[in-house]
Amino acid sequence: MIVEGHEHTKELTRSAHTVVIGSGSGGSVVAHTLAQAGVETVVLEEGGHFDRGGFTQREGEMLKKLFRNGAQQYTTDGMINVLQGSCFGGSTVINMADCEPMTESLLAHWREEFLLTSMTMDAMAPSLERVRAMLQVQQIRPDQVNLNNSLVLQGAKKLGHSTAVFEHNRKGCIGSGYCLLGCAYDAKKGAHLNYLPRAIDAGVTVYTDARVERIEVESAEKVFVHGSILERGVRIARLPFKVEAQRVVMAAGAAHSPAILWASGLGGKLPALGKNLSLQPQLGVIADYGDDTAVTMWRGIPQSAYTTAFDDISPEKGLSGYRLEGLNSGVALFAANLPGLGHPHKAQMSRLKHLSFGLVLVPDRPSGKLDWKQDSERGFATEIHYTPQTEWIERLRKGMKLAAEIHFAAGAKEVYFTAENTPLLKSADDLSKLDDFKLLTGSAHLISAHIQGTCRMGLDPKSSVVDQDHRVHGFENLYVVDASVHPTTASPHTMIPVMTLADRAARRMLDR
Ligand SMILES: Cc1cc2nc3c(=O)[nH]c(=O)nc-3n(C[C@H](O)[C@H](O)[C@H](O)COP(=O)(O)OP(=O)(O)OC[C@H]3O[C@@H](n4cnc5c(N)ncnc54)[C@H](O)[C@@H]3O)c2cc1C
Ligand code: SF4
Repeated sequence: MIVEGHEHTKELTRSAHTVVIGSGSGGSVVAHTLAQAGVETVVLEEGGHFDRGGFTQREGEMLKKLFRNGAQQYTTDGMINVLQGSCFGGSTVINMADCEPMTESLLAHWREEFLLTSMTMDAMAPSLERVRAMLQVQQIRPDQVNLNNSLVLQGAKKLGHSTAVFEHNRKGCIGSGYCLLGCAYDAKKGAHLNYLPRAIDAGVTVYTDARVERIEVESAEKVFVHGSILERGVRIARLPFKVEAQRVVMAAGAAHSPAILWASGLGGKLPALGKNLSLQPQLGVIADYGDDTAVTMWRGIPQSAYTTAFDDISPEKGLSGYRLEGLNSGVALFAANLPGLGHPHKAQMSRLKHLSFGLVLVPDRPSGKLDWKQDSERGFATEIHYTPQTEWIERLRKGMKLAAEIHFAAGAKEVYFTAENTPLLKSADDLSKLDDFKLLTGSAHLISAHIQGTCRMGLDPKSSVVDQDHRVHGFENLYVVDASVHPTTASPHTMIPVMTLADRAARRMLDR
């Protein structure tokens, strides 16, 4: 059953064996797995419930309805827009459906640097298999790669760089291009179409428009979850709720799971809370292919092709390297990230049909932290403090050169970036102009779709928040199962890793 915010006429009080906070990648998998095993489970989700009929394909409407802060959640210096879904199904509803699992080298890094001995590919394989089957993961066909992405493949091929086309969790995709706004054709198989409906069939109640504000641990068998039923849209507290549970699973995403623990007064016991933040920031690259080429980047699967030549994953460093990925970010978000104002900005937007857009994706090392303010009406305001490391900026420069070189090889006339201080490049001969590129606040516009790490998994409560079973250190019945547990960036695309770990975590809960 789904109970939406407007259905409540009085305070909600109830109990359940397990409360799952958040219905995205982590929460949906845990709720489904526990419910299938007969555990009475309730999901509390801050965002609203929308389905194909409600996905209007209008950015002005859907960004506000489906994203945290209307897709306007920035680092404190204003440089990085940290995107997160916030609705029934969480970020799986609005993401790009690219499926990339964790690799053995990455898990080896976690074992060696963080002593996570249980993180082996053998242990992970059954969970990965179940997740892939549920999401109907399959290879994107060559005929589904639009011109915007195909230019990445063509340019890289001319230069002799290896590339790949993603696997994805779409079936029956008509290539409308609106993935970021929720799929009105039910082709993108997010958790709202598989894990959550099946969990509901198995008896789960999902309360939407229900924001958890704190928990109160009474004993190893009893936790109270406190929060507010919200007025949808404005997200202002309307009625209180209190749910009593034997077990609480936090799956509110990497900005809000630690926020709830902090607001519950547990920060003193968990010094690593909110630290070790990874954002995996991405810089936009724009290539103008001239009047004779209509790229029409907004049609077709938005993100399908990427370079693999400079990916680097090793047991010593974890995820490193850099890559170029094609992307249609939606016209409004694209316009917001374009450099320039007024007439120059308008002139660039008038070229839209001929522009190719992509992202330079550079995996980072954890280098940020979160703080929060809490308001009784509006909930958490997250302060995202993040300083890119010098070594990361060096790899970004290499990624920018790679992106420009690929586009010129594919026939671009001009290349520039979503940073006002980058020169307009007219040919591959101009690449050296990027040698002095400086990442300046107020000039560079980056996005992050992969916030992770703020409830790090580890053995030592001084430097981590959860153990290898996702249990919060020092608490028998509190778990975190979402992207916040990743000790370092788990993959260039994090949905499958979060879900794989969630499947494994839920089964370990059942084993206990
Ligand atoms: C724009 C975008 C594109 C992406 N594209 C891809 C891609 O192509 N491939 C890929 O693998 N990954 C992609 N990702 C990343 C991937 O979707 C996320 O890493 C993953 O979904 C994170 O899972 P999670 O469980 O941590 O959080 P989420 O899936 O974000 O779910 C968290 C849920 O918790 C809810 N919540 C938060 N606070 C509270 C509270 N206090 N009370 C109740 N509920 C709360 C939120 O509303 C949200 O619904 C993308 C992400 C974004 C934002
Ligand atoms: S491109 Fe495909 S998956 Fe994306 S919104 Fe359109 S039909 Fe749905």
